[in-house]
Amino acid sequence: MKLKSLQDLLVAQLKDLYSAENQLVKALPKMAKAASNPDLKAGFAEHLEQTKGQIARIEIICDQLGVTPKGKKCAAMEGLVEEGKELMEEDAEPGVLDAGLIAAAQKVEHYEIASYGSARTWAERLGLDEAARLLQETLDEEKATDEKLTELALSAVNEEAEEDERAEGDDPPSAAKKKAAR
Ligand code: FE
Ligand code: FE
Ligand code: FE
Repeated sequence: MKLKSLQDLLVAQLKDLYSAENQLVKALPKMAKAASNPDLKAGFAEHLEQTKGQIARIEIICDQLGVTPKGKKCAAMEGLVEEGKELMEEDAEPGVLDAGLIAAAQKVEHYEIASYGSARTWAERLGLDEAARLLQETLDEEKATDEKLTELALSAVNEEAEEDERAEGDDPPSAAKKKAAR
């Protein structure tokens, strides 16, 4: 694909995101299944539904531009999904696995936030108002998901990971550290 204009670049980015989102539709159910914390599980399931809507938005935009969203593979998402798969294959304590899944999911969201932010800005510059609006909607969903993941990490999930650690031995390092801090 030749990139002669900003619109060519936008189309290339939309194709890349279309591939990324379709890879996530396959990966998110596996992450939901691997998660133990009920809020994290529900969060992955909810984002799966949002992701399907995001795919539909890319289809609408590409339709309006007279191009197909197909034909590109997002290599970055392939790598991020692969790292998530490696994590899920580890023999991890449930709370520890949840903490790792949150990190894996946030890497995905940050990639999407960067990509959709750029695409939205290019659409604005090109005067493609409807495309820019749809891309902003998806960008807002990705940002909200990232924030929800941060909240989960700060509340329940990392605590559960610590509890797994305490359950491991009589004198776990975290308990020793807390004692020393007193
Ligand atoms: Fe997405
Ligand atoms: Fe990509
Ligand atoms: Fe997302």
